[in-house]
Amino acid sequence: MNIVRTAKFWGTKWKIKFCNLDDDTYGDCDWENKIIRTRDHDLKDELLLDTLIHEALHACCPWMAEYAIAMMASEIARYLWRLGYRLPEDKDANQNTA
Ligand SMILES: [Zn+2]
Repeated sequence: MNIVRTAKFWGTKWKIKFCNLDDDTYGDCDWENKIIRTRDHDLKDELLLDTLIHEALHACCPWMAEYAIAMMASEIARYLWRLGYRLPEDKDANQNTA
């Protein structure tokens, strides 16, 4: 899988980073600096999908309350997961191809 390093939300370019975060933080959205970070060492499967959607929703809808973001992200993640959407097991597999 090609690692996504940037994404555009509402025409604005954001940096996407997979990195070490605190154990109680799956991801965060730095709206001021346009950076989405996702914990990289143990998130997988539907929880990773949920986190990616969650942070994208924060980027798209900064005015939206946390509980609404969390609820929508989980519902969308569950829906996509049931439809069969998956990320490759090793998201770093193609990172070093030149
Ligand atoms: Zn949140």
